[in-house]
Amino acid sequence: MKPHGSIPADFATIDGELRLGATRATDVAAGGTPCFAYDFGVVRARVARLRAALPAEVALHYAIKANPFPPLVAALAALVDGLDVASGGELELALPYKRHEVSFAGPGKRDAELEAAIRAGATINLESEGEAARALRLADQLQVRPRLAVRVNPAFQLKGSGMKMGGGASPFGIDAERVPALVRQLIVSGADWRGFHIYAGSQSLDPLALIATQAATISLAAELGDASGNAPPLVNLGGGFGVPYFAGDRPLDLEQIGAALAEALDLRPSILSDTGFAVELGRWLVAECGVYLTRIVDRKESRGEVFLVTDGGLHHQLAASGNFGTVVRRNYPIAIANRMASEPSETVNVVGCLCTPLDRLGDAVQLPHAQPGDLVALFMAGAYGASASPSTFLGHPAAREVLIDQ
Ligand SMILES: *Cc1c(COP(=O)(O)O)cnc(C)c1O
Repeated sequence: MKPHGSIPADFATIDGELRLGATRATDVAAGGTPCFAYDFGVVRARVARLRAALPAEVALHYAIKANPFPPLVAALAALVDGLDVASGGELELALPYKRHEVSFAGPGKRDAELEAAIRAGATINLESEGEAARALRLADQLQVRPRLAVRVNPAFQLKGSGMKMGGGASPFGIDAERVPALVRQLIVSGADWRGFHIYAGSQSLDPLALIATQAATISLAAELGDASGNAPPLVNLGGGFGVPYFAGDRPLDLEQIGAALAEALDLRPSILSDTGFAVELGRWLVAECGVYLTRIVDRKESRGEVFLVTDGGLHHQLAASGNFGTVVRRNYPIAIANRMASEPSETVNVVGCLCTPLDRLGDAVQLPHAQPGDLVALFMAGAYGASASPSTFLGHPAAREVLIDQ
């Protein structure tokens, strides 16, 4: 039997209640449920740990798509070296904070998005030769020297990665073998060529796979620099650092990864000696800070099973329902936030309020006896939650979002 409160170590309790920073979960929920609460102290601690583990020369970027809640972005922008965006909307969100350390990736950038990035001096990570031609033409019209990097579609991919990007044909990046010609063309056109962006995958919990990918990325950047006759000013090494969502997942050994990266950078080919490096992380920075709080509306029994029916659901937290990038549904860590001191006493199913069998938040979980009015906490809700869920599906209200920073 899994213990009740198999919760991320970042969270403590007070008087049998879950605590977020100095605030009781019940006080947060009193403002209305369902609610995403983000404990910024958790993020601050993770940034500090990352800084300590990674070589000092590696810049840290936050990939906004993991959690674009404006107060969270504002707070994180002060702690990182750059913001990575993947749409015109995210670009707008990022520009007030880090004007010249914003990079813009993503396929299908419209002319208006390219233009906004060029005007703002953001770096555009080019996803195709066609996009490069459009960016150069727009920059010419605007009479602005564009900052352009080339996103590379490498021949390798991050092993054990949740969502694979790279390795074969891809909508992301330009096939490595075609990159040198494009770099030469960008330089001839007078663009401010910023270097390479090489992103090989996401959600890996395998430090050896991440280490191998980082080493392969550095080698590839050197090869492409040699082949294009130019040293890249910057190499964005991607990210891919995973977080433990499920029972049995082990958190990454960050110190092992940092030590290997320091060694790989020490031994890097000479063409990269003046190159700056960055990693771009989304979920590793924010997933663990978030708790989705939802209140039990009904407790019912059906053919011997108990169902706790909540006021939340997959329209806010799709990932926890198992319908976002997973093949087999597994439970996210879950607890009854106002009964943290109680032992688990029954096996129940926690479901959302949507009229679809997909809306499952916990299957056969061990929890203390809970009833209507009690508060369910679903952990690991800080990344790809509110903004990655179909919030208009079934017409329920959106979830509140709250940043707690004390
Ligand atoms: C989504 C994305 C990220 C962030 O991925 P995480 O798994 O959240 O760390 C980083 N870089 C790019 C290019 C992305 O598309």
